[in-house]
Amino acid sequence: MLKFEIFEHLKDEKVKEAVRVQSLIVKILRDYLHEKGFSEILPVVISRVTDPLSEVKNSVSFEIYGQYYQLTKSMIFHKRMALYSLDKIFTFSPNVRIEEEKKSSTRRHLVEFVQLDLEMRNARMEDVMRIAEDMLCYLFDRLKEEAKDELSYFGRELPELKTPFPVYEFEEVYSRYGEDYENILSTNSTHPLWVVHFPETRREFYYKTIPGTNKMADFDLLYPYGYGEAISGGEREDNKDNVIRKLKDKDADYLKDFYLKLLDAGVPPSSGFGIGIERLTMFVCGLDHIIYTKLFPKLPVKEVQFI
Ligand code: ASP
Ligand code: MG
Repeated sequence: MLKFEIFEHLKDEKVKEAVRVQSLIVKILRDYLHEKGFSEILPVVISRVTDPLSEVKNSVSFEIYGQYYQLTKSMIFHKRMALYSLDKIFTFSPNVRIEEEKKSSTRRHLVEFVQLDLEMRNARMEDVMRIAEDMLCYLFDRLKEEAKDELSYFGRELPELKTPFPVYEFEEVYSRYGEDYENILSTNSTHPLWVVHFPETRREFYYKTIPGTNKMADFDLLYPYGYGEAISGGEREDNKDNVIRKLKDKDADYLKDFYLKLLDAGVPPSSGFGIGIERLTMFVCGLDHIIYTKLFPKLPVKEVQFI
């Protein structure tokens, strides 16, 4: 059973070192994205439309001023809407996802986490995949210099990254490894790798379906050494018939109406991705539990009271 006492946790050397690394990670990612011409937008904490994320069972919703809101599960729609005014944006967005309790056994699921969410006008999936690769190379190079002491505290050597990262088709890895493909691939790999082109049935409606197929122009990046999923992202759906079809049985009229309006208002085509900052910290420091990456963690468990 998990043992957690907030004051002990706050004084834990491992937590202190991990949070220092995280602070550097955030600074370096910001530097990189500014250099590449991205603008940082401020996060949205409560939302009338947020990521449906069908694998997350419950959302936190409430009514204020006669309007119905949810805690943001991801800024997917807001970052896309931001492209009416700006070409390339990113945000460090707090996301709340009420995961099933069994997810706590992965040791890398938090109920509240921060995701670097990025979106780029007129970009194809390959364009943002190259940005993710380049950004991680830049980050690891700088960390090797700037976080030397912390990395040596953890006895951690970051892997040498080679671009482009290897790419696997979802269909191929799923037929070879089945439902546990992510874990198997991540555990057996020594380099981050992409899994691309998920079928519509496994992903949210907002990823673009490739015409004439039931596959989507989307991707996950997996960390090596069993650290699991790092990034999700892809091209955005811009075909109204596809939107209506994909949301047909989903009891999501409000979302459907909203998304169709977004398309009618001429939202530019775009691609983007999200990368969780705590999991990135966990990987960089080589930690065996995500709890050490946050001063105030919240895990999907009943028996522990978090602050
Ligand atoms: N909305 C996705 C997520 O939060 C990321 C993305 O597609 O940009 O997993
Ligand atoms: Mg994902």
